[in-house]
Amino acid sequence: QTIFIPKETDPVEPRVAASPETVKKLIGLGFSVVVEKGAGTLSRIPDSEFDAAGAKIGSATDAKSADVILKVRRPSLSELKSYKKGAALIAMLDPYGDDATVRAYADAGLSSFTMEFMPRITRAQVMDVLSSQANLAGYQAVIDAAAEYGRALPMMMTAAGTVPAAKVFVMGAGVAGLQAIATARRLGAVVTATDVRPAAKEQVASLGGKFIAVEDEEFKAAETAGGYAKEMSREYQAKQAALVADHIAKQDIVITTALIPGRPAPRLVTKEMLAAMRPGSVVVDLAVERGGNVEGAQPGKVVEIGGVKIVGHLNVPGRIAATASQLYARNLFAFIETLTDKDSKALKINLDDELVKATLLTHDGSVVHPAFAQAAA
Ligand code: NAD
Repeated sequence: QTIFIPKETDPVEPRVAASPETVKKLIGLGFSVVVEKGAGTLSRIPDSEFDAAGAKIGSATDAKSADVILKVRRPSLSELKSYKKGAALIAMLDPYGDDATVRAYADAGLSSFTMEFMPRITRAQVMDVLSSQANLAGYQAVIDAAAEYGRALPMMMTAAGTVPAAKVFVMGAGVAGLQAIATARRLGAVVTATDVRPAAKEQVASLGGKFIAVEDEEFKAAETAGGYAKEMSREYQAKQAALVADHIAKQDIVITTALIPGRPAPRLVTKEMLAAMRPGSVVVDLAVERGGNVEGAQPGKVVEIGGVKIVGHLNVPGRIAATASQLYARNLFAFIETLTDKDSKALKINLDDELVKATLLTHDGSVVHPAFAQAAA
């Protein structure tokens, strides 16, 4: 079977769904691999490296004959039309709120898998694209904040005097937030962090951060069985806001990462809180694409409100594309490896496999994922 890796068509997407390393491994599984010319350029992978790994360098029209298509983002409707009926599409399809597109995958006869739905179980950790990409976003958020800050982060004792350490506050201590804490600590900042999940407390402390939160009864029950945060009550949010307002006024850098699955991002930083911050402070909103944690943050822009810079970069993992692609490609390879039948050396979709059940949106002309099947019926 043939695997095709196109160049991403979305202009904000520099990542690519394969690396020379995973091309070699896919060939090792028995596939032939075609990579579209220039697919890796923005991830610092020249065609020559894909070629040396054993891929054929092709063009967009190679999608037609591919049995498996690996992408970062969902294809455009015109790209969809170029895919062969019965092909497997594996990408971050971002399907929530877009039933029509999911229907279109079914109508195109695709077996479409969305990688964001990979269950967070031990077996699937190596395929967890949300974690691999969020981890890099957390790192990059600190790098972006440091670049905007215009001051040093570590305390420096120099012959010309002492420079104090920057104070960094991380809101939301999931995968991205924990990496932001670790990165800010490595740069010498004094780090505090908050979350609504009690489990985060120990994790923040283990990275050398100080945990700050309203620890009431609701907090003790705020984690779902899946490990995610619940949407908090208005009362909790008010208590949290009061605590944050006090703390944030003393911070130099704030990094917000708070998300709730399937819901808009919670608003954690208001205009009033921003107004209480010192001019020259920096706020990075990693949730800006999901509605934003910070009032006034603008997707794709760095804005200044009362002297405070608010950073709202889009596709933050894409800002560190070479590393992001390397890890994303490994996530995809691990998934394909489990889907591949060792004897026929071809993809064999086992509908009883829990990883397939969780990620397969469409199959054999139908919408099969329970979250979408009803809307499609
Ligand atoms: P996420 O991206 O959904 O959200 C980021 C963080 O924001 C979370 O920690 C969440 O609790 C927090 N948050 C939500 N509302 C908030 C609010 N009002 N105020 C402050 N913080 C708020 O989370 P994630 O990074 O995907 O991690 C979710 C969970 O999944 C974590 O428990 C993590 O440890 C777990 N996880 C498990 C695995 C695995 O076992 N394979 C892999 C990755 C993550």
